[in-house]
Amino acid sequence: MQSYDLAILGGGPAAFTAAGIAQERGARTLIIEERQPGGVCPNRGCMPSKRLISEARRYAHARRHAARFGGHDPAPPPMQRLVEEKDDLVRRSRAAHVRSVERSGRIELLSGRGRLVGRGRIAIGSQEIDATRILIATGASPLIPAISGLAETPHLTSEMLGTEEGLSLRALPRSLVFIGGGYIACELGQSLRRLGAEVAIVEIADRLLPDQDARIGAALGEAFEEGEGIALHLRSRVTHVSGDAGEVRVSIEGSEATREITAERLVVTAGVTPNSRDLGLAEAGVDTDEAGFIRVDARMRTTAQGIWAAGDVVGPPMATPVANYRAAIAAGDIFDDPPRPPVAEIAVPRAVFTDPEIGAVGWTAEAARAAGLDVQVGEADLARTARGAVEHKPRGLARLVAEAGTLRLLGAQLCCPRAAEIVQLAAAAVASQWTVANLQQHVYVYPTFTEILRDAAGRVGKD
Ligand SMILES: Cc1cc2nc3c(=O)[nH]c(=O)nc-3n(C[C@H](O)[C@H](O)[C@H](O)COP(=O)(O)OP(=O)(O)OC[C@H]3O[C@@H](n4cnc5c(N)ncnc54)[C@H](O)[C@@H]3O)c2cc1C
Repeated sequence: MQSYDLAILGGGPAAFTAAGIAQERGARTLIIEERQPGGVCPNRGCMPSKRLISEARRYAHARRHAARFGGHDPAPPPMQRLVEEKDDLVRRSRAAHVRSVERSGRIELLSGRGRLVGRGRIAIGSQEIDATRILIATGASPLIPAISGLAETPHLTSEMLGTEEGLSLRALPRSLVFIGGGYIACELGQSLRRLGAEVAIVEIADRLLPDQDARIGAALGEAFEEGEGIALHLRSRVTHVSGDAGEVRVSIEGSEATREITAERLVVTAGVTPNSRDLGLAEAGVDTDEAGFIRVDARMRTTAQGIWAAGDVVGPPMATPVANYRAAIAAGDIFDDPPRPPVAEIAVPRAVFTDPEIGAVGWTAEAARAAGLDVQVGEADLARTARGAVEHKPRGLARLVAEAGTLRLLGAQLCCPRAAEIVQLAAAAVASQWTVANLQQHVYVYPTFTEILRDAAGRVGKD
């Protein structure tokens, strides 16, 4: 039986970060991956989705501005070409992961599904290995809600941009309906709409992106309905689905009426569920919460000695940089490095790569007030910034949340071009405990969209 210093269940970003640190410490490490090396991010998440989004945005902007420059209405890029280029990007990224393992000399990659079968022991099919330490980094999968008829009705999920046969979208459908209006539906729905498909989104909450600030979700909804022609069914619950490969029927119950919408393809984007089932966790003494996320302490130790966990399988915030950071904490603890500070959740920036983009950090006003915090809010309009005027007044708004009295910054939410970049200054300000005055006194590059933060700071407590 092979023995390792560290065995990692799952081969996503968290696994590769931890393995990189283990390699620097000279440890013999095994990564066990049942699907594709690299995990969700390069294979069916961040990378392929951002490629599609970027191509669709370039086309939409070219189309929007063509007349102004005397051009003709450009034709949409053929979906087949986009799919081939995206697949190529995915394959290159996957190959880079495999090469990094081959070059390391200390890391091995084993294809198969791993399961804990005893103290320091993992079974992969009929094979068993021993490891002094184990890291669980099995990530999360699309959540398939219990909707009547869904199991029998063909549907896609957030895995639709991967390369796996049967799970991925190879051609542009005439129409799609998304169940759930979170970030994946917004990003992919807008892109596919821009490439020529009819898109409808059904969301049970009163706005898109229900976990974001209400004004931000509403602003994106307006941009989608008015600017893109995306059909939004808000405050609506899917009660039944049916159909076949060519047409699906989705019954929805709204606050006022019950109706049926049809589309060529159905996409389920209703959240994620941790990959913590059938791993032998209970027998190994690894506790999970009610949703199945693995419980860890600040050092990413699970409740079982010698077993750590990191990445999406330990719960939100679920994003690649957080998975990497938490994996680095775990690996640091495994190899007795000086402790890294835990993820300061309040200062983790989040983004949604729609157009306009969404950037957010820290508390929203509603969540802060619901938690009993006394806060003040300031809101600014992008059109009023100098850059907004120069750029023909694109849609955009920013909201800042500050603690009443001290005016210490507790959160920022943006819906505007480049919000995913601008939010990084807001995140640094929250992490550094800046006050609203600090943000106002900061010297900004002029004219930039980032100045919207200064304008919003000037409005705190005045609206
Ligand atoms: C469409 C989409 C777009 C996204 N866009 C972004 C973005 O723009 N920015 C961002 O930061 N994040 C984005 N994310 C989220 C990001 O992909 C994840 O947060 C990140 O991949 C989590 O990394 P991880 O290492 O925890 O797990 P994963 O990437 O999920 O990898 C876990 C791996 O473990 C494997 N596995 C599971 N169980 C076992 C087992 N028993 N044995 C062996 N292998 C197993 C799985 O096959 C998987 O490959 C996106 C996700 C999706 C779906």
